[in-house]
Amino acid sequence: MKSLTFKAVKSLLKSPKKIVIVTHVNPDGDAIGSALGLRQYLIQKGHKSTVIVPNDYPKFLKWIPGTSEVLNYEQNTALAIKKLKDTNIIFTVDFNALHRSGPMQIQLEKNKAPMIMIDHHQQPEDYAAYTYSDTNMGSTAEMVYHFINQLGDLELINKEVGIGLYTGIMTDTASFRFPKTSVKTHRVAAHLIELGVDHSEIHSRVYDANRYERLQLMGKALNNLIVLKSLNTAYITLSQAELDACNHQKGDTEGLVNYGLSVEGVKLAVIFIEKKAEGTIKISLRSKGHFDVNHFARNHFDGGGHKNAAGGKSELSLEATIAKFKTLIKSHKKELQ
Ligand code: 5GP
Ligand code: MN
Repeated sequence: MKSLTFKAVKSLLKSPKKIVIVTHVNPDGDAIGSALGLRQYLIQKGHKSTVIVPNDYPKFLKWIPGTSEVLNYEQNTALAIKKLKDTNIIFTVDFNALHRSGPMQIQLEKNKAPMIMIDHHQQPEDYAAYTYSDTNMGSTAEMVYHFINQLGDLELINKEVGIGLYTGIMTDTASFRFPKTSVKTHRVAAHLIELGVDHSEIHSRVYDANRYERLQLMGKALNNLIVLKSLNTAYITLSQAELDACNHQKGDTEGLVNYGLSVEGVKLAVIFIEKKAEGTIKISLRSKGHFDVNHFARNHFDGGGHKNAAGGKSELSLEATIAKFKTLIKSHKKELQ
């Protein structure tokens, strides 16, 4: 965001406002952490602020300060629409295309309140009055920190703000592991820890909350892992029957795709998850190096994301989706070497 735009946002936030913060569908740690961190900051600044999520999110994120105030659009549509109609400003965090807000898309499209986008995905759409987009950032949560700093409000970042932001940074950098984790990221994290954020507790709350059935599902996923050696590609499948057998709950499949990428030499890892109720296969893609999964997902699987982490979907059967995928990647052999 240009400094001029920060100036405009700063003056917009000068007097108390009603503000709604919206995330993408199936919100993850970065979406929820960014939204709740931003919400705590806006409250400190004297605004009324509501987080609206398009649909439910995993239990391992339901402890961040402000959680009990989160409004679920799918479960509470009338109230959510009322809030949206009554708001002065809408922040959209961790997404950059209105269709990513799922069932909320049509409400956001017809809404009159100015939107402020904070996001780190590739190819932002032009829907917001103020766009803060930085594809070099490892997480939207880190951007929220820089956003608050740019507005001259660093001292308003307290422990409550910090818990949300730390959760977002930690989850989207895979615990400070991915290449976009920078010196700046560590400085931000260090500052949040100085404010009293307990990094160890947050890690534990997010990653040590496994149910036994989730571990069984993980076992199934690992058993189903296929490595295409000549293409340096690994993929995992999970059928609806396998999910059902493990009493699948939201968030259970999060992160499984990364196991494929941990196989020696693998440059591209994919997980295909059957969603019978929606009639689709949910696809998550991760890569190391040159292979651009954002382009690949955009071009072939109705999705998008980042160069090295993206998602998409397919309306074919699980078998046909895999066949399509296998055919497609053959033409990318060079990039996968
Ligand atoms: P995941 O595989 O964890 O669902 O998503 C990986 C990344 O790609 C995330 O940053 C997520 O926001 C993005 N992403 C996932 N699915 C889609 C999709 O269908 N469309 C777009 N544009 N991005 C997606
Ligand atoms: Mn993110």
